[in-house]
Amino acid sequence: MKILLRLALVSMLFSFTNLSFAQETESVFSSMVGDCEVILLSDGQGQANTEFLIGVTAEMLKECVPSGTFPIAVNAFLVKTPEKNILIDTGNGAKLFENLSEVNVNPLEIDAILITHMHFDHIGGLLANGEVMFPNAELYTAQAEHDYWTSGEGGGFDLARTVINAYKDKLILFEGVSLDDEDTKELIHSVVAISTPGHTPGHTMYIIGSGDNQMMVWGDLIHAMAVQVPYPQVAVTYDVDPKQAVKSREKAMEYISKNNVPIAGMHTPFPGMGKIKSEGTGYIFEEIK
Ligand SMILES: [Zn+2]
Repeated sequence: MKILLRLALVSMLFSFTNLSFAQETESVFSSMVGDCEVILLSDGQGQANTEFLIGVTAEMLKECVPSGTFPIAVNAFLVKTPEKNILIDTGNGAKLFENLSEVNVNPLEIDAILITHMHFDHIGGLLANGEVMFPNAELYTAQAEHDYWTSGEGGGFDLARTVINAYKDKLILFEGVSLDDEDTKELIHSVVAISTPGHTPGHTMYIIGSGDNQMMVWGDLIHAMAVQVPYPQVAVTYDVDPKQAVKSREKAMEYISKNNVPIAGMHTPFPGMGKIKSEGTGYIFEEIK
């Protein structure tokens, strides 16, 4: 029953990609970033087809996806700083609570939840049957994200508004900084919020740590690792503004590769983390070992 529900929820998101979640992987993976532990909490992964890509050529597909499908995951991340337990997104909620229990963290011990954007596969774990699942957490989301999702009706708008209302006493709205800003202010201990609009108007990446010990939790900067890493100019039909999403991605990829900052991605297959290196006109990805 649980598995059926999970498949139903995930297939809602990737409804026209024929995503199959037949492939099971490990659910948690941990990496230290300075004095913070960043833990992947996987909601599962499977194969997606290429129908949701925009601006992709036959040559790119032949080179990057010869089989016609590529792996894609749904992930959230837990950041344990010396003082706080911080969740970055919640996945669709399918395995979140199981995963938290596996790493011995009670939902009541989550102090803050940082949202990259308000699509279902990122905020699905915040409520269960309309009930707030993290009553002791403050919920951080970009002002632009809040404004967008409270401006419309139906589908994703209704879901986001329900979450916003349920957490209204705990809601913290912020303006993310740009990657060009010299003066980067911490949103919360060890975390800076970086505005990367396009996929959604308030899409935000979070950089954890400082100096040589950093990790960029990039949300949905990339959905299709197989195609958008070598070709960041490819967008997806889920992008609210595909052109702006490409601009944000190109800028972020340049920054990440130049500064050699490891990344963690919400749709990056297990273990969900790795390094981006510049190669030719695009980039390559190396998984964290
Ligand atoms: Zn997503």
